[in-house]
Formats: sequence, structure tokens, C-alpha cells
Amino acid sequence: MIIDSHCHIDFEDFDSDRDQVIHNANRAGVEKIIVPGITARNWQRQHDICQQYTGLYAAFGLHPYFLEQHQQQHIDALKQWIEQHDTIGIGECGLDFFLPELDKDTQQFYFYAQLELALEKQLPVVIHARKATEQVIQAIKQRPGLRGMIHSYSGSYEQATQLIDLGFFISLGASITYDNATRIQKIASQLPLEHLLVETDAPDQAGGVHRGKRNEPGFIVEVVEGLACIKGLSRENIIQQTSLNAMTLFGLD
Ligand SMILES: [Zn+2]
Repeated sequence: MIIDSHCHIDFEDFDSDRDQVIHNANRAGVEKIIVPGITARNWQRQHDICQQYTGLYAAFGLHPYFLEQHQQQHIDALKQWIEQHDTIGIGECGLDFFLPELDKDTQQFYFYAQLELALEKQLPVVIHARKATEQVIQAIKQRPGLRGMIHSYSGSYEQATQLIDLGFFISLGASITYDNATRIQKIASQLPLEHLLVETDAPDQAGGVHRGKRNEPGFIVEVVEGLACIKGLSRENIIQQTSLNAMTLFGLD
């Protein structure tokens, strides 16, 4: 059983054929999909879709990419929402310092507030960190007891070991399969499998023969195979351990 630890299956990109995409994923061995939230306005739709299929699990949050849609009252709304709906985590939240139009202070306001909420509710956090891994590590260090994952990891090996020491999981996507990705491949080869997750980030970040097209949760097989090759382990080994990691982190049975 494969777990796709990060997939936006609720996005409109899948509205025309979501049944088929999920069916294909199941046939590829994907039994569970973690679906992260992005904006307050989208939580209802995301929740409805996750309820509609078995094996979909929702985290709810305010994604830094959609900063201009967030309002301060959405933090309280998020707290209320997770108290009233099935929730396996807080997120997607985090810091994106790659895009200059996203104000850093405002991003930090929403990120820190969501970390506090995760601590209060004892829920794992799903973190987006782009050109901001150092700031994310500092924020986690200041909040002992926080648990979670860094999705689509792009930091250094040293930063990854710090995150693992802080109890976090490192999630890897199709970027490890790219021909020119020797840096992240080297990092993946050195990190202990007990702290790794696999994800697609679909509909984004398609790899292999699908690069440039819509990504799908079923394509995670390529990430699994890529990681197996990098680590010199069997597919089954990768699947078994990364699924166990995801179940432990998100409290799934
Ligand atoms: Zn995402």
C-alpha cells in the first residue's frame, strides 16, 4: 500500500475525471492520499471531496501562495473548522520566499499562527518551505513538541538532519527522478528512510514521462521507483517504510 503524502486531488484540475484519477491511483497501489488545504474559501469543497472517497484524508490550512486571499479572522475560522470537521493535520502552511510578491511579514504571521494552532490541537503540520528552510527550522525550534512534515523538500542535507532531529519528516516528490537533480538525489540517498515520505504534489510537479503535464497520485510509483534506485532498496521496502511513516505521523490506521 502506497501513501501519497501530499496531493491536491480537490483542485479543479481533476473536476472532469476525479473518479478515474482516483481509480487509477488505487490500481497503482495508492490506498491513502493526504489532501492539504489552501484557503478558507476552499475548505468546504475540499472537505466534501475527501468525504466522498475512501482513503482521502484532509489537512486544513492557509497556504502562503494564496496570501492575498487570507484574512486575520481566518485563523479563528480555521480553529473552529478543525473542531467541527475530520482533520488529520494543519496545513498546507509555510513560507515561500522565492516569490517576491508575497510579503514576508504577512506570510510569517499566518505561518506562526498555524504552528501555534497545531501545537494547541496536537496535530501535525504540513509545511511548504521554498527558499525559506532556515526560517522554518527556527520557527519549529521555537515551538518544542511540534510534529510534521516538510513537503517537496528542497533544502540542504544539513538542514534535513536538523529537521529530522526536531522530529520532522522529509517528503520527496518527482524532483528526485529528474535527470538534472543530482543534489536532491544525493540528499535522498543519505537520509534515513525512517524519516522520509513520498508525495506527488499533484496536479503540480509531474516527473518522468509526465513532466510538463498534469500530475496524478498514481504517478507516485515513479517517485517510489526513483527512491528505491537511489537507495539501492526494493520498491516494497520503500513502500512499506514510507507508508508506516505517514501512518505514524498522521495517526492513520
Ligand atoms: Zn501543496
